[in-house]
Amino acid sequence: MKDKYDVIVVGAGPAGSSVATTASKAGLDVLLIEKRQEIGDPVRCAEGVDKEGIKRHIKPDPRWIAAEVKGSRIFAPDGTKLQISEKMSGAEVGYVLERKIFDRALAEQAVSSGAEVIVKTSATGLIRKNKQITGIHARSIGESVDIKAKIVVGADGVESKVGRFAGINTTLAPKDIETCAQFLVSGIEADEYCQFYLGNNIAPGGYAWVFPKGKGIANVGIGVLGSLSNNGMPVKLLSNFVKHHFPTGKIIEMVLGAVPASGPIEKTIADGFMLVGDSARQSDPLTGGGILNALDAGVMAGTVAASCIEKDDVSEKALMEYERQWRETIGKKISKTLVVKEKLITFTDKQFNIFAHSIEGKCDNTMGVFDIVRALFRANPKLLWEFRNLIK
Ligand SMILES: Cc1cc2nc3c(=O)[nH]c(=O)nc-3n(C[C@H](O)[C@H](O)[C@H](O)COP(=O)(O)OP(=O)(O)OC[C@H]3O[C@@H](n4cnc5c(N)ncnc54)[C@H](O)[C@@H]3O)c2cc1C
Repeated sequence: MKDKYDVIVVGAGPAGSSVATTASKAGLDVLLIEKRQEIGDPVRCAEGVDKEGIKRHIKPDPRWIAAEVKGSRIFAPDGTKLQISEKMSGAEVGYVLERKIFDRALAEQAVSSGAEVIVKTSATGLIRKNKQITGIHARSIGESVDIKAKIVVGADGVESKVGRFAGINTTLAPKDIETCAQFLVSGIEADEYCQFYLGNNIAPGGYAWVFPKGKGIANVGIGVLGSLSNNGMPVKLLSNFVKHHFPTGKIIEMVLGAVPASGPIEKTIADGFMLVGDSARQSDPLTGGGILNALDAGVMAGTVAASCIEKDDVSEKALMEYERQWRETIGKKISKTLVVKEKLITFTDKQFNIFAHSIEGKCDNTMGVFDIVRALFRANPKLLWEFRNLIK
C-alpha cells in the first residue's frame, strides 16, 4: 500500500468495486479498501437482480449465478396470487446470485482494471486540509495508517460512517429503514419463481420473499418497516412464515440487516468526497433492491472522479456533476417508488385483498408490473387519484 492515490474507495461492495473499476479504467491510481477479511462474506442480501442490468457491468458467469428465474408471484394476504413473467418483472428478478462469489468477481474486475485492493482495512476518519478532504485515517491489519487521495469515495453500505465523517447527513429515521431477517432454507421444493407475500400480519410495512437458489435451497426473508418493528420482530415473523410455508425445511444460514428506504437524501458530495450506493441511500425504497443502483451510481462516480481529477478541480462544485447524473436517473426512479411505498404502507389487508381480487382473473404470464398497475387502475379508478403524483 502506498501513502498516496488519486482515489481511495472505502468499502468493496458492488458500489465500491464499480467506482474502482471505472476510475482505474480511466487511468487513475485507485485504492479500494475493505474492512472485512473476505470480500462478499457474510452476505446480507436476498441476491435477486435484473439480468439485463447486471450484464451492463460484468459478463455473466455460472460461478456467481445460483439460479435463473422465470418470473415472480405476488400473494395478497388471503393467498390470492398474481403472476408476472421474468421479462416483465422489472428490476427485481432474473438472476438469483451467489453474492459471496459475485462481490469477489466485481473486486477482481477492479484489480484487473488496475486498482489495488486491500482487505482487513477499515477507514476510521478523514484527513482534511481546511474544508477539503484529502485522505483517510485507517486501521490496516492492526496498524494505524494515514493515506492521502485527491478524492475519497464512501461506499461503506447502509451503516455508513464515512458519510458522517464528511459532514453529510445520512441519518435514517425508523420509517426510512426496512429491518430484515433472512434464512437460507434447504430441503424445500421451490420452483423457478421469486415469491413475494404481502400482509400486515406477515410483514408490517414490508413483505416476505422466497428467492430460489436451485437444488432445493432458497433465500427466505422478511422486511419490516423500522417504525412498525420492535426488537426481534423480523426473526419471529420469519420463523412463523418458514414454519407455515416450509415445515420440513432446514435453516442453514441466517442474516440480519437493514435496507435504506428513504428515497434520495439531500447531499452526497463534499470537497474531495463522494458517497455511493447504500451509503448514499440509493436503494429502491419499495423493493429494497440496491445492487444495480449501486453499480450504476459507481460508474457515474468513477467517471466524474476521472474528469474532475483531469481538470485538477475536485471541489464540491465540480463533483456536482455526479450528483446531477444520479439524481436524473436513479433519483427520479426512487422518488417515484417512494410515493408508492408510502401509499402501500397505509393499506389494510382487506384493501390488499380487494385490489388483488379485482384483477385476479385478468393477470396472465405475459403481464409486467406496469400492466398490473394499469389493470389495477382500470378496476379501481379511485386509485388513480391516490397515485396522481406518479402519473404527472
Ligand atoms: C436482507 C437483505 C436483502 C436484500 N436483498 C436484495 C436483493 O435481493 N436485491 C438487491 O438488489 N438488493 C438487495 N439488498 C440490498 C443490497 O444488499 C444493497 O443495496 C447492496 O449490497 C448495496 O451495495 P453497496 O456496495 O452500497 O454496499 P454493501 O454491499 O453493504 O458494501 C459495503 C462494504 O463496505 C464495507 N465497509 C463498511 N465500513 C467500512 C469501513 N469503515 N472501511 C472499509 N470498509 C467498510 C463493508 O464491509 C461492505 O463490504 C438486500 C439487503 C438486505 C439487508
